[in-house]
Amino acid sequence: MHDYSFYSAILGLSSDWRIINVTVDKQSGEIELHLRSRRGSKFRCPTCGALKLPSGSTKGRWLHGNHHNIRFFISALIPTITCECCGEVKVEIPWEHAAALYKEEW
Ligand SMILES: [Zn+2]
Repeated sequence: MHDYSFYSAILGLSSDWRIINVTVDKQSGEIELHLRSRRGSKFRCPTCGALKLPSGSTKGRWLHGNHHNIRFFISALIPTITCECCGEVKVEIPWEHAAALYKEEW
């Protein structure tokens, strides 16, 4: 078992998310984190706040930061929920806030 708690802390992940793998490209030195939502976790509708089990997912990839010339990517399956009021929506992504903080700091 790998301990990914360092990355979880950087990204501000809640227990609803887990890091399933971290890969390093030996040639470029790029680090890529692979994330998923935890099975059975409910997520809030970003518009009305309703708590729902995911009804689907979409893939996404982010460039998190460029720290000492190491590029740091995040690949994730982002849950989508079906809300009675708002329709099908993507849930809020914690590391989009973390990435903003990260950029300010450096
Ligand atoms: Zn809603």
